[in-house]
Amino acid sequence: MNPHDFTSGDYAPAPESSDHISLKKSYDLFIGGKWVKAASKFDTINPATGKVIAEVSSAGKKEVNQAVKAARKAYDGEWSSISGAERGKYLFRIARLLQERAREFAVIESMDGGKPIRESRDIDVPLAAAHFFYHAGWADKLEYAFPGKKPKPLGVVGQVIPWNFPLLMAAWKIAPALACGNTVVLKPAETTPLTALKLAELLEDAELPAGVVNIITGDGETGQALVEHSDIDKVAFTGSTAVGKSIRRTVAGTDKRYTLELGGKAANIIFEDAPINEAVEGIINGIFFNQGHVCCAGSRLFVQESIADKVIRKLKKRIGTLKVGDPLDKNTDIGAINSAEQLARIKALVNAGEKEGACIWQPEGRLPRKGNWFKPTLFTDCAQSHRIVQEEIFGPVLAIQTFRTPQEAIEKANNTPYGLSGGVWTDKGSKIFKMTTSLNAGVVWANTYNKFDPTSPFGGYKESGIGREGGLHGLSAYLNL
Ligand code: NAD
Repeated sequence: MNPHDFTSGDYAPAPESSDHISLKKSYDLFIGGKWVKAASKFDTINPATGKVIAEVSSAGKKEVNQAVKAARKAYDGEWSSISGAERGKYLFRIARLLQERAREFAVIESMDGGKPIRESRDIDVPLAAAHFFYHAGWADKLEYAFPGKKPKPLGVVGQVIPWNFPLLMAAWKIAPALACGNTVVLKPAETTPLTALKLAELLEDAELPAGVVNIITGDGETGQALVEHSDIDKVAFTGSTAVGKSIRRTVAGTDKRYTLELGGKAANIIFEDAPINEAVEGIINGIFFNQGHVCCAGSRLFVQESIADKVIRKLKKRIGTLKVGDPLDKNTDIGAINSAEQLARIKALVNAGEKEGACIWQPEGRLPRKGNWFKPTLFTDCAQSHRIVQEEIFGPVLAIQTFRTPQEAIEKANNTPYGLSGGVWTDKGSKIFKMTTSLNAGVVWANTYNKFDPTSPFGGYKESGIGREGGLHGLSAYLNL
């Protein structure tokens, strides 16, 4: 065993088996309850090995139109005539089937996206099921959720999602839409289409009426064709701020409703009175969870000056124990970077950080030879103006700054174009209150990080987006009240 080899480490390999999964070699589009052929196909690749897993279809304008028509037909027909309680039954059934097939979904998610099996098994899939359970409960109680209102569905919803939490984002989108009586056309990201296609198979098994959910794969052009389609009533988008802005321009002047869940550059703030060891774990979880491919990642660390040396020393020691490698190994902490393009983006920003004068630190160790990998990385001596402090890297890279007073921390933390999330670590309740109310962010965690729950609304300010998903706020985004 080589102690400097991330791929061996101190543990014996504990690979999750992939014998139990069933994947087709080639997938069509799921439209109107049927599998429909498209004119062209593309490969989906395992980012940890570079090998092709399956071939998926690329939906053009014609197929997008077909999918929207199918969703409209279902909305005007059977789906509108059934009661909320019946809709709830379908959602409960989907949630239970997801739980039954959790292992298969977790393995496919890790193969297609590169995330550690520990995360897809313990976080992505259980949370996806939880979203269906939660919204199943609301389906027949919408008038109690919004007393004095007459909640009505919007109609056909076009949903476009990113590659960092493929199944979970599909659940965030589909569950509230169906609970409220809408029908859906969903487009997963081009690098991670497989769990959405498996979900389509599960919906068939749940006997969801044809056309209520349509799943069409493809790249940004497919997404754009969906967003532009004149017969959708709402666009629900999660992805980059750049695409979010373009979608906002597209829907301007129409009466389409929209919610945009976009990028982030969260500040994780550690005060000198914080429980340091717990805070170090929170910093690790904040930035290295899902390789840092997390919109709410704690990618900027602010440490009070008096404890900065101690925190950074402990952080480096802890990073030295992280295992980078095979996503299907149960010991793995950091899996593969989702795509070659994303790896190139991370490298370019890290190079910019070095060029602009920040000081880089990475643990020793060799990365696997094949696939897309990046070492957990720290930057110290960062300035507010550095690109690594201002721009979303979406990788395992942490920019560290110090502060002396709470006011300084607030000013620095709020000084980005984003406003999605943040973290505060302190022993003092009053300080938590002051910080959480002063940070311009949709979600602020106190003495913890990256905690998610379907009952809790999630979303951002400024360039992090518009609207909330989860909880009653998320539900209202799929209703005419
Ligand atoms: P992306 O914007 O490149 O792509 C997201 C989705 O949009 C993909 O399905 C893509 O095919 C599609 N798309 C691309 N161009 C389009 C267009 N012109 N019109 C319509 N659809 C189009 O983002 P990404 O790189 O896949 O995801 C990473 C980004 O997502 C990060 O910025 C991250 O912060 C953000 N994100 C935000 C949240 C949140 O809840 N706020 C959650 C997860 C990810």
